[in-house]
This record gives sequence, structure tokens and C-alpha cells, in this order.
Amino acid sequence: MKPTGPIPSWFTGDGALTIAGRAAEDWAAGHGTPLFVYDAAIIADRVATLRAAMPAAVEIHYAIKANPYPPLLGVLAPLVGGLDVASAGELATALAVKPAAHISFAGPGKRDSELEAAIRVGATINLESEGEANRALAIADGIGIMPKLAVRVNPSFELKGSGMKMGGRPSPFGVDADRVPALVQRLIAAGADWRGFHIFAGSQALDTAAIIETQRATVQLARELADRAGAEPPLVNLGGGLGVPYFSGDTPVDVAAVGAALGEVLQPGWAYAIELGRWLVAECGVYLTRVVDRKESGGETFLVVDGGLHHQLAATGNFGTVVRRNYPVRLARGGEASETVSIVGPLCTPLDRLADRIAFPRANVGDVIAVFLAGAYGPTASPARFLGHPDAVEVLAGVTHG
Ligand SMILES: *Cc1c(COP(=O)(O)O)cnc(C)c1O
Repeated sequence: MKPTGPIPSWFTGDGALTIAGRAAEDWAAGHGTPLFVYDAAIIADRVATLRAAMPAAVEIHYAIKANPYPPLLGVLAPLVGGLDVASAGELATALAVKPAAHISFAGPGKRDSELEAAIRVGATINLESEGEANRALAIADGIGIMPKLAVRVNPSFELKGSGMKMGGRPSPFGVDADRVPALVQRLIAAGADWRGFHIFAGSQALDTAAIIETQRATVQLARELADRAGAEPPLVNLGGGLGVPYFSGDTPVDVAAVGAALGEVLQPGWAYAIELGRWLVAECGVYLTRVVDRKESGGETFLVVDGGLHHQLAATGNFGTVVRRNYPVRLARGGEASETVSIVGPLCTPLDRLADRIAFPRANVGDVIAVFLAGAYGPTASPARFLGHPDAVEVLAGVTHG
């Protein structure tokens, strides 16, 4: 038997699972399965918690790739200071809910058409290389618009203990730190509206002390680069990296401690941002899937469900994890664990496993199973077209429940 991750605190009651005040089984009956339900009140709660923890000089930005579902963005966008996008498609999505002045565009390999789209609307481009800087300046020159350009820095350090390391090594992301001051000087000399630095050192870190140390190093690096460039950055984007507890033994980041430590090192008078994806939205989402078959094989019990890796790849351990571990799951109607089961999806691959040998109440065909932490990197980060099953339905639950 293997453990499952911790169920987020909003959903830990006994008995039947409710989401935004409505029984999970009702959500499933009303919208069909597989179904993602996102609770807007949890998102608002997350933003409020972070806002209270962070110094006033630090804006909160949302990296929309974590969950670009338009109704969810519609709720989240007004609560945060900025949106970070990573393609022209995401830029268009973001522009529907936020003025371009509060949108930044990061990511390697921006095509000329994407750079032009960002320059035309006045979004900030986080430059990933000198080559991209040259193309952006040329495009801006050609259309006669002053471009808003920030420089993404590939720092010489990494975020320790993060699931995805983004610094301290050769990288497609950002300009190596020692070459940044010269690039900044060139942008300013070329007449660009230089918007500052973007320094992103890693993702999915749960180690509070490591996050504090990395943020300290990031603030220090921004100061050094500004000194060497001889220019004050209008904004220093410190990246993100705050993780959420997905697995057994994981504990939440102490954001109050992170904010307090950050407050001690910020350069007075400078503006900062942190940009988060999963920390803001992962916990608001529940993926509901229905048992289609119950079978025994080799002495083990399999619950075969209608959802799987084509919607929620991350829960099957195939998105950014090295060792497969179980996400938190439960039977929607509740009950005492009485047997060991594996929960598998309908795809013809052994990778399609939502839970591996977990203790579970007796579940039958037709029962609804909830997979938690489904608010980030779900439908848009999963191979939806693989094997031709229908897309998942997504629904945003109302903002009114306490
Ligand atoms: C993906 C990404 C994020 C968000 O990462 P999370 O782990 O979801 O918080 C933030 N900034 C950049 C530049 C990213 O690429």
C-alpha cells in the first residue's frame, strides 16, 4: 500500500465531499464526467493570504499557463497586479482581462509575429536572448513604436529543492547574468522603454529557507546588475517558485516567513513583483471522474475511471516529476478505507494511473472519485488528443461561499 498526498484543507471534512457548498456528486451529475471544478473563493483566499504576507512594494503576478481557463482568469485577474504570458495566444487571452501595461511576455523562441503583437499592444517583453533583443528593436523601429523591454536573467544560482531548476546552468531561458548589463545599456541607447529585470530561479519549491535564500540572492543580483548597467530598474520581477504540497510528507511553504524575510532585503524605493502559477490556483481545483469498471487482476483491484492523463497528466506522475507518487484522491461519497486499489484511466498505456495501490473505501461502477490539486497544469498541460477521448469539462464555482 502506498500513501496519498495531503487533501487541501478546504476539502478535508468527513462524509460526502462538497465543492463550493455543493456535493461533488451533484457537480458530476450536473455537468458530466470527467469534470474540473474550480472554486473561485479559494483563489480569492490564496491571493489574500499572499497579499497579506508580502511587502507592499511587491506586486503579485499570475503566470497564466498554470490555468488559462477564461472564467477563472476573469476572477483572478482583478485580484493581482499583473499577468505573465508565454505565447501570442496567451497574450490574447490575457488582454481580455487585463490592460497590456500589466502584462509581461516571457519564454524562449518568440516569433517575430509574437514580438510585434506584444509591441503593438504595449505589453512588456521579457527578453530571453540578445538575438531576441535585436529582433524586437528592429520590429519596433519598423512600426515606429517604443517597445517595453525587460531582460530575463539566467542567474548563476538555482532555487534549491525546487522541482524544476531554472538557473545556475546553461539555459534556453534568460541572458547569462554577466552579459546583462551590456544588453541593458544597449536597450536604453536604442531608445527602448527598459522595464527592468526578470529573474526566475526555479519552480515547485516547498523549502521555506531555500526560497528565502534564493529571493535574497535574487534581490542582490538585481542590485549588482543595476549598478553595472548604471540604470535603475523600473521593476524587478523576482520570479516565483512557491510550491504546493502534492505528495505524502509535503508541507506548505510558510509564506508569512518568506514575505517577512523579503521585506528586510528589498531596495527602498524600488518596485518588485513575484509571479506565481500553481501556488495561486492548484488547490482550488478538483478533477471528478467516474468509475467505469471494477476489475481484479493478479490479486489486485483496479478501479477503471473515465478520466486520466489526457486531462490531468500531472496526477499520473508524468509532468515534471522524477518518481511517481500519489496525488491526494478520495471517494466523493466518503466512507472508511477497506481495501487496496489502483485507480487507472481509460488510455491504452500503463502510464495512465491516477493512484497506485492506495487504501480506499469499497467503490463500485458509477461512483465518483475526486483527484485534488487539479487547479494548475490540468487540461492545457495534458495530451488531450491522445486516443481521442472527449475533452474535460471545466466549471468555475461561484464566488459567494465562505
Ligand atoms: C511557469 C512559470 C511560472 C509559474 O510557475 P509555477 O510553478 O506554476 O508557479 C512563473 N514564471 C515563469 C517565467 C514561468 O515560466
